[in-house]
Amino acid sequence: MKRAKVYKNFINGEWVKSHTGETFKNINPANTDEVVGVFQKSDKRDVNDAVTAAAKAYKKWRLVPAPKRGEILYNIANRLLKEKEQLSQDMTREMGKVLAETRGDVQEAIDMTYYMAGEGRRAFGQTTPSEMNNKFCMSVRQPLGVCGMITPWNFPMAIPAWKMMPALVMGNTVVIKPATDTPLSVANLVKVMGEEGLPPGVVNMVTGSGGSVGSPMMHDKRVECVSFTGSTEIGRKVSEACAPDFKHCHLEMGGKNCIIVMDDADIDLAVDGALWGAFGTTGQRCTASSRIILHKKIYNKFARKFVNRAKAIKIGNGLDEKHQMGPAVSESQMRSVLEYMKIGQQEDGAKLLCGGGRPKGAKYRKGWYTQPTVFGDVVPGMRVFHEEIFGSVTDLIPAKSFDDAIKLANNCAYGLSASIYTQNVNWAFSAMRDVFTGIFYVNAPTIGAETHLPFGGTKHTGNGHREACTQALGVFSEWKSIYVDFSGVIQRAQIDNQ
Ligand code: NAP
Repeated sequence: MKRAKVYKNFINGEWVKSHTGETFKNINPANTDEVVGVFQKSDKRDVNDAVTAAAKAYKKWRLVPAPKRGEILYNIANRLLKEKEQLSQDMTREMGKVLAETRGDVQEAIDMTYYMAGEGRRAFGQTTPSEMNNKFCMSVRQPLGVCGMITPWNFPMAIPAWKMMPALVMGNTVVIKPATDTPLSVANLVKVMGEEGLPPGVVNMVTGSGGSVGSPMMHDKRVECVSFTGSTEIGRKVSEACAPDFKHCHLEMGGKNCIIVMDDADIDLAVDGALWGAFGTTGQRCTASSRIILHKKIYNKFARKFVNRAKAIKIGNGLDEKHQMGPAVSESQMRSVLEYMKIGQQEDGAKLLCGGGRPKGAKYRKGWYTQPTVFGDVVPGMRVFHEEIFGSVTDLIPAKSFDDAIKLANNCAYGLSASIYTQNVNWAFSAMRDVFTGIFYVNAPTIGAETHLPFGGTKHTGNGHREACTQALGVFSEWKSIYVDFSGVIQRAQIDNQ
């Protein structure tokens, strides 16, 4: 059998082994016999090296003209585009989602890199008149310094790019800790970034567990900003670690997103959307459509069509393009999803309409597969109504009226994404206004964000920041307001102009 490649940490422009001398295996979730790569099991000494390199590199990088920084990003995007197919195949092997989706993930990284390359020539501030004579006012963005990034496994290249590209174009330097389940895609990305002209130390990658790498990174006093995407539970820890030093802290966390289907909706369109929203990426999206709120008049019709289609989803290795849904990312993720399938069946009143376990057959034995699973008659109070499952499970929830549907939608600790299917413009606009989420769709499912709009959520999904678009620049910079007085006399604001 071919020996798996050993990957190292990327620190100060070089690939280096961890101080621990230990490694871990990255396993293909569709074929657990395949070791995709061997990665460094790092600890705080490696984090210290990476932060030291990033702090040193920051002194020069912040003074590189932003358009020049943007040009390097532009070269990175071009190279990613050239290597898109290989990067996508690597991602499917380490994460499991089907090739069409990993191509989308890489494309999202490319889109974000081009977008932020352009910000090198924009990053607009403001000029505004002064209340005084012969005085000029402007505001400019300033970089922060070393930015630490902790990323999840479900979008292994897109999310790291969403964080790194705005940080870099603003003049910050970066230390990133990828998810233990998907370090290869970040290693591939960082390799391209180093080779396409980022000076040594500007981007650094340290692999290893959240406790051994993520934790020392977020507690390091030289790290000025921590950008985290992952569960609400770990996000709270990041928030607490950042608070004593008032670090910039950017959190993108869990979701329990809903689609509302009204009685005037195009049902076939809604079924198509709900299938893609619920079972795309095996339901492992923060924006997954895990609650489908159905007006009672169309409940049965929708449920019948939806369940038939869910049962027909082709499950299998994502490298084979006939498959529509890959495995869960890891054994522990699969076990957690299977546990929720049991919990749903034990809820008083919920009905298992399809799925409920692992698919049967020899071809599934070597992978962490789960069936598309639908629970019917789900109501508030049930755990499957409220808790994020992050797998191939969704709920059908009956609603009495439009107002009831809005109430059910907002009965949620999270606030990432929601949608409505209706032909009624009044309902569409009311729902846009009244459902309290960071993202909302009309006649489309809860997934499908584009990189030039702000991305993030309310309530327990986020802490008020947004990823993507120009809003991302706010996470990785500080505003400075500058007043230039060329009057030659003392002018006191709010006093001398009265
Ligand atoms: P997770 O368990 O919270 O892990 C996220 C990252 O945090 C990983 O890199 C993890 O490292 C690290 N980590 C774990 N414990 C840590 C600690 N004590 N200190 C510092 N870092 C630590 O989440 P996940 O299972 O990877 O991802 C699923 C979650 O992410 C879901 O809740 C999903 O909704 C959310 N998500 C949100 C968004 C969004 O934009 N809102 C997008 C995608 C995913 P290890 O991998 O080594 O454990």
